[in-house]
Amino acid sequence: MTIAENLKDIRGRIDAAARRAGRDPNRVRLVAVSKRVPLERLQEAVDAGQTIFGENYLQEAELKIKALGPGLDWHFIGHLQSNKAKLATGLFNVIETVDRLKLAVALDGHLAKKGKRLPVLLQVNIGHEVQKSGVLPEDAEELLRQINQLPNLEVCGLMAMPPFFEDAEAARPYFRELRQMADGFAQQGLLAQGRPLEVSMGMSGDFEVAVEEGATLVRVGTALFGDRLQ
Ligand SMILES: *Cc1c(COP(=O)(O)O)cnc(C)c1O
Repeated sequence: MTIAENLKDIRGRIDAAARRAGRDPNRVRLVAVSKRVPLERLQEAVDAGQTIFGENYLQEAELKIKALGPGLDWHFIGHLQSNKAKLATGLFNVIETVDRLKLAVALDGHLAKKGKRLPVLLQVNIGHEVQKSGVLPEDAEELLRQINQLPNLEVCGLMAMPPFFEDAEAARPYFRELRQMADGFAQQGLLAQGRPLEVSMGMSGDFEVAVEEGATLVRVGTALFGDRLQ
């Protein structure tokens, strides 16, 4: 299968999942996760109409962003160290993995110098997994309230990576919980006004379940590009 064919297949599956759940398929965007994928394959995706890419590593992303030129939407989805905040604010349109105040403060400071505001998502460790990044669900509201004091970050929603299961259905309760958290924060007026609510969840093995449960961004790598290098 070519990348164009994979894209068409994935888009069709997203749309069908949205319709099954009575949702508007246009409210679900595909983030093409391109970490450790060679540039030529990203170019193929661009040629097939893909515009949103997700990258985990700053140096790697920098090369790709420069090579592929403007007009694309780059989401940072990896673990971000505070001392790399400056570089990240210069490269990405959205940072999906803000999970602690120190990082948020660093991002906000660099944005202030650039006179720029940045949409971000709060990364939630929805499965309480020790090895994973993300704010714990019980601490998310307090962190959100603190970040909302920072003038240059616009928190548009939540992002999570639930525990890994062979059976995608097993991830459903986590997706549901994340969507409910996001809706709750939106109802309390804690998310950016004037921007659509974003819930980033679902990967190659489980994106259809995530869409059924309310994802607005799905992050798909392997199903689109095939196996990664390394
Ligand atoms: C790698 C990665 C993905 C994509 O995973 P696939 O299983 O290849 O679709 C999604 N989200 C994050 C945060 C990732 O690091």
